[in-house]
Amino acid sequence: MTATGDLLHRFLFERLPVRGHLVRLDASWRAAIEHQAYPEAVTAALGEAMAAAALMAGALKFEGRLSLQFEGKGPVRLILAQCTHRHAIRGVARHDALPEGVPAQGGLFGDGQLAVTIEQAEGGERYQGVVPLVTARLADCLEQYFERSEQLPSRLMLAATADRAAGILLQRVAMGETGTATERAEADDAWKRLGLLVATVSPKELFSLPSRQLLRRLFPEDDIRLFEGAPVFFQCTCSRERVAGILQSLGGDEVNALLAERGDVEVRCEFCNRAWRFDAVDVAGLFSPGAPQPAPPGLH
Ligand SMILES: [Zn+2]
Repeated sequence: MTATGDLLHRFLFERLPVRGHLVRLDASWRAAIEHQAYPEAVTAALGEAMAAAALMAGALKFEGRLSLQFEGKGPVRLILAQCTHRHAIRGVARHDALPEGVPAQGGLFGDGQLAVTIEQAEGGERYQGVVPLVTARLADCLEQYFERSEQLPSRLMLAATADRAAGILLQRVAMGETGTATERAEADDAWKRLGLLVATVSPKELFSLPSRQLLRRLFPEDDIRLFEGAPVFFQCTCSRERVAGILQSLGGDEVNALLAERGDVEVRCEFCNRAWRFDAVDVAGLFSPGAPQPAPPGLH
């Protein structure tokens, strides 16, 4: 029996103040990088970020879109992974030529930062938390984010290849004022124990063991309730209107110069590689007095 992909599961420990999420991306992940030719190390980093985005979309409450953005001065300038509350994922990486012999992910980013942004749908508030990149391991940076920005101790294991991306997230739930000193000490010990256990998971297990079996293998002594998985899928949110807005913000002079040079203006979506084409009539329409105004700048 092998694992079923493209599912996000929630689980909880029946007798401990700890909950978790487990995700496996197969077809959704392959669709997200179908048109890209990233070097192996960049693919792995983007896949891990995508799995992490799905785990965080499961763990945090919002309606809209969550973005994980790793930015650095190293050869990989940007890894952007997004997941909506409906679990639609997409992502993109920008990088320079990678130096020879860089171990997977080691030193890919250099000095940099991780930004977690939640854009709420329907005019809700935009939330952003930023932490410095502490190590080359994306999971470490995200654990730091949870600790600092959410005051939520977390353990995260991620793995990705060009075929699959997967991850598991454990989070310690606050006990409030109810627990006695003994109960708190026990919860501390249990949290340490679970952290050590989850760290033993191998990429192979994350990719291929069925969820229930994986949890049993990692936490044989604990009673775990595993909830039914929610589907995760690839979906891009680019649209003609959004591209039109980008062109409008470039300005008439620049867009008309592009038009004169090439006969039409083509904008290719970085996420899904779809080409949006604007001919002379379209461009004239964009800059006519009655044209709709560009949307405010931001991630589209
Ligand atoms: Zn797109």
